[in-house]
Amino acid sequence: MSTLPAFLNLRRLEGRIVALFLALLLVVQLASFAVIRTSIERNANGSIAAELKTGERVLRRLLAQEAARRGDAAELLAMDYGFKEAIGLPLAEEGTAETIRDALSNQGERIGASVVVYADNELRLVAATRKDAGRFLGLLQARVNKPGPGGDMQLALLDGQAYQVVVAQVRTPAPVGWVLMGFALDATALQDLKSLSDLRAVVVIRTGTEGAWRPLVSNFDTEAALSLAGQIPAAGGLFAAEVNEEQWRGRFAPLLEPQQPLAVVLLRSFDEAIAPYRQLQLTLLALTLIGVSVFALGAVLTARRISGPIKTLSDSAERLGRGDYKTPVRRHSSDEVGDLADAFEAMRQGIRSREEQVHRLAFWDPLTGLPNREQFSQQLALRLARDSSPCAVLMLDLDRFKHVNDVLGHAFGDRLLCSVAQRLQALQRDRGALLARLGGDEFVLLLEGADQAAAQASAARIQADFEAPLHIDDQTVDLGAGIGIALAPEHGSEVSQLLARAELAMYAAKRRQQGSMVYEAALDAGSQESLSLLGELRRAIESQELRLYLQPKVDLRDGTIVSAEALVRWQHPSRGLVPPMQFIPFAEQTGFIRALTAWVIEESARMTQEARRRGMAVRISVNLSTRDLMDQELPAKIMSLLARHGAAPADLCLEITESAIMDDPQRALHTLERLSELGFKLSIDDFGTGYSSLAYLKRLPVNELKIDSSFVMAMERDLDDAKIVRSTIELAHNLGLSVVAEGVETGKAWKLLAELGCDEGQGYFIGRPAPAQQFMDWLPSWLPPDLSHESLDTVMAGLT
Ligand code: C2E
Ligand code: CA
Ligand code: CA
Repeated sequence: MSTLPAFLNLRRLEGRIVALFLALLLVVQLASFAVIRTSIERNANGSIAAELKTGERVLRRLLAQEAARRGDAAELLAMDYGFKEAIGLPLAEEGTAETIRDALSNQGERIGASVVVYADNELRLVAATRKDAGRFLGLLQARVNKPGPGGDMQLALLDGQAYQVVVAQVRTPAPVGWVLMGFALDATALQDLKSLSDLRAVVVIRTGTEGAWRPLVSNFDTEAALSLAGQIPAAGGLFAAEVNEEQWRGRFAPLLEPQQPLAVVLLRSFDEAIAPYRQLQLTLLALTLIGVSVFALGAVLTARRISGPIKTLSDSAERLGRGDYKTPVRRHSSDEVGDLADAFEAMRQGIRSREEQVHRLAFWDPLTGLPNREQFSQQLALRLARDSSPCAVLMLDLDRFKHVNDVLGHAFGDRLLCSVAQRLQALQRDRGALLARLGGDEFVLLLEGADQAAAQASAARIQADFEAPLHIDDQTVDLGAGIGIALAPEHGSEVSQLLARAELAMYAAKRRQQGSMVYEAALDAGSQESLSLLGELRRAIESQELRLYLQPKVDLRDGTIVSAEALVRWQHPSRGLVPPMQFIPFAEQTGFIRALTAWVIEESARMTQEARRRGMAVRISVNLSTRDLMDQELPAKIMSLLARHGAAPADLCLEITESAIMDDPQRALHTLERLSELGFKLSIDDFGTGYSSLAYLKRLPVNELKIDSSFVMAMERDLDDAKIVRSTIELAHNLGLSVVAEGVETGKAWKLLAELGCDEGQGYFIGRPAPAQQFMDWLPSWLPPDLSHESLDTVMAGLT
């Protein structure tokens, strides 16, 4: 079916139109053909009937003319002098009859009569040209008795023969007798008729009134005449006959009185009569055929004109269905189909613009105009599927953004993000890297073809660029960021894995305040390397590889040391002294942190007791992590550990980061309340890097707030950081919290913090973390530094 052209396929519109047109044309043509045919036949029959009627009259006239001519010949004989003389002789005289007969014969032969008879006034036969002439005396009598006889044609029947019989009276001058001439009917008149017209004629005769007609003379051949005589209908009149396989129309006409058995049949060939019409019909047929072909062609073209635009339109609709909204739907005609095409086009444009909008929302970050996480993931997936050559994913998270947002406002934060996006974009412009914003203050870069060295170089470039502060409105903002790097295919060949590992590395970099970091398995609790690390850590406690370091905290007003922070180190048998950032995050992820915290608390409790024995009072701050806070048994556990060494809750301060609380604020709050009730001092660590606000802190049972070192270390040169430190101190005091500044590295920082009202300080300027025993030995020798020469004029001028 499908191989048929459309205009032959009745299931298609095109085929149906063509078929309908042709069927209509054929019906009209056939009807007119039939009408023409019957009217031709009716016309032919009518004109033949007229022709036959005329033919009959002509034939009668011809016979009458012949009869008249023969009558004249009889008169001529009757007036012939020699003949009259001969009949005037006495009949008794020898040779008289002979003489009369000779005269009759001469005249009869000359005119071609079959018989010539002379009878006297009493109609007695005197002489004749034939011996059987007595038979004709009856005919003579009939004529004499009834003058003007036998019709114009003077026909008579005698013994089954037709004759033309003429009679003339002989006068000398008194009537003396009669001359009769008989002519056997021959074909002369019929031949004349044939030469005058296209008609044939057969004179027929029958024996009796019911007998069969038989031909007497005709201008036909004998056989045809015979066959025709057999086809004469009893009723006579007009009839159809077939002779020699030809159609004829006949007219039967009696020649004598109707009841007498002599008649003529006039014939006209029907086939011949309609031959010219047949020619016409053939011409008509040829015209019909040409008409049908022309019509068919026209129908096909028209059908195409109609179905063509519909087909184009349905192709367009199919394209739209497939989701191709790029190709416009064109109008091909000015009719309704064209209107439909316009409607399709409007629909296409509508869908397309909406689709583009959806696409924009789905794949682009509306704030910065950068690709979003979704697009980045897709591009990375494509890139990873395309080839396995190296590339690097570089994830970047701004430092302290949350805090900037809180203090300087969200609109400012948005502007800051846009500026950062522009800077990153400018940096990557010539390098063909793909830059995207993942959300919040997180950005990601895909570095094509980058190995570890190249990725680190890129990260270094970003860090270097960020050293130049941003200027937004009148504000100057110090940028800082943690950058995590994951390499493909080394660290994974899947999008989610690479992103997760870059993120791990990024958080590690932030925690270590190290700028950038390349992913390593140790960061990842799930990796094989980590499992062996976990085993090692377990052993570390048993084989006493952990070391407790203490870092002093000083009262910024009088310079006395009243407390210290416990910081753990791992004295690894082969790796040496491992800093906490290389195993604390891992311990948190694996849950090992609980054992570690217990160890630190026990060691710290021991140290407070040792200090007491040495006559000093040192409160030790211990860091707690999320896992610890989630543990409902924690307060009880700590109490039993303290009891073991005779220490009290007041000997410890517990440091909690904001993020540790935010994981499950409800549960964390519950634990904190328990701890607070038990008499522990509670401190918020790394304040400013997390997401909580000061308002939120109001609900927490904390006593102390530690400003993150990144603000403190930057505040001497960055006025905004100094403002943040100042407002943090003010707000904390308003909430009844004491404030500790971390990262005090200079005397100037100390002096500035003291000026701003900060309560305590911790940092390298006072003392680096040292092994606990060493710390105990060092403590008595502590003397507050002399800060009188430090000048704060420039900073303070900026702050007021
Ligand atoms: P943290 O609680 O904020 O501890 C302060 C970190 O700042 C310590 O690094 C300390 O050495 C460092 N630091 C102190 N003063 C200065 C300074 O003036 N300048 C600079 N640049 N740094 C200074 P550390 O010991 O490497 O510890 C890193 C982090 O590891 C800690 O941050 C804490 O979050 C975690 N940590 C350490 N020990 C423990 C522990 O026993 N338990 C738990 N859960 N976490 C711990
Ligand atoms: Ca801490
Ligand atoms: Ca801290």
